[in-house]
Amino acid sequence: MSKPSKSYRKRDIGGRPLSPETLMLGYGYNPKQSEGAIKPPIFQTSTFAFESAEHGEQSFRAARGVPLADDPLDPGLAYSRINNPDVEILEDRLTIYDGAEAAVAFSSGMGAITTAILAVAGAGSVVLHSSPLYGGTESLIRNVLPRFGIKTVEFPATADEATLARAIVEARTLGPLAVIYTETPANPTNELVDLALVARLAREPFAAANGVAPVVMTDNTYLGPVAQFPIEHGVDVVLYSLTKYVGGHSDLVAGAALGSAAHMAKVRGLRTLFGTNPDPHTCWLLLRSMETVRLRMEASFANARKLAVFLAAHPKVEVVRFLDFLPEGSAQREIFERQCLSAGSTFSFDVVGGKDAAFRVLNRLQVAKLAVSLGGTETLMCHPASTTHSGVDPALRARLGVTEGLIRISVGIENADDLIADLSQALEAV
Ligand code: PLP
Repeated sequence: MSKPSKSYRKRDIGGRPLSPETLMLGYGYNPKQSEGAIKPPIFQTSTFAFESAEHGEQSFRAARGVPLADDPLDPGLAYSRINNPDVEILEDRLTIYDGAEAAVAFSSGMGAITTAILAVAGAGSVVLHSSPLYGGTESLIRNVLPRFGIKTVEFPATADEATLARAIVEARTLGPLAVIYTETPANPTNELVDLALVARLAREPFAAANGVAPVVMTDNTYLGPVAQFPIEHGVDVVLYSLTKYVGGHSDLVAGAALGSAAHMAKVRGLRTLFGTNPDPHTCWLLLRSMETVRLRMEASFANARKLAVFLAAHPKVEVVRFLDFLPEGSAQREIFERQCLSAGSTFSFDVVGGKDAAFRVLNRLQVAKLAVSLGGTETLMCHPASTTHSGVDPALRARLGVTEGLIRISVGIENADDLIADLSQALEAV
């Protein structure tokens, strides 16, 4: 299938821009190319027939990003590790909510994160990262990148300007600073990184090597794509675990990187070589999911607020790390109001009595499910210290606030009162 015709790339009506919710239902797909099917078929094929040997040559020149002047603009598809219609429609739609020039889809969030970092960082260069991060990313950056000669330096997610500037200077003493990697809100503590501050300092002369500024990356899994827009704050590359809110039904694993066409060309090239591409069926599921992403996320956000209020008033609960509860006048509150449109629906809280009490609560759940992951239609709860963050050194875990009594909850779209009843009976175990 060649690229859809222009009318399926229409972004406005009579000059009025179409909203992302509208575009999720049709953008980038031409039914005429698929027997009029209203939904894109699943192009379950590994390879694509060329019309001629010359056509094959043109397709590969396009895939390598080196087309000749008289090659067709759209020479068609070549091989499903490089391109595939379901993957391309998904990538086109992924650009919309975030306002990105281009998107590259992956077989997992970790595939997106690893490929995006390695597209710009190499032996001798430095990755500066906020902390805490999702456990897998934390292990990748701290334990794996150094094995390939990439040096890493951390800064606290809540760093102010002076702290961040010091961290950048420290990082630059180790080598050229290739990436400033951030995750906000941070998993699982919900601390916020000031993205506009990071982007501004990344472009200051003291951050650049030979005039080249580090690439600022943000994992937007917790609030994107409807309640936080990192590109508006100056971020270069936005990363997603699509497994979470975007997929939203806990039935797939996928990821994405979004950004300028130039950055994404590098990321795409490496994806082809690493083979971290998604499969057509998963992309088709994601197209279904993206039609309802705003509806689902807003419903879960409303439920989460009710649950957070209930938990905050509960005598067996110590700290509820819900963004709406950030103290007025605090620096974190100011970032929240400037950067986020909602507190989201994934947060954590400490139960009185540490690990033992946390386990007893989790073992009594009847509606909420005891599982890792987040952003699905069903409520999921887990104990980060023994699961998602078990690979992180215990001393570091304690320093980052991932305590033994910490429970993470990802609130779904069930009836909020049913969830409150469930948590209420589970907390009786403490
Ligand atoms: N980023 C965040 C914030 C996550 O929570 C996760 C997984 O839990 C990932 C990235 C990794 O995503 P995936 O499991 O799709 O590889």
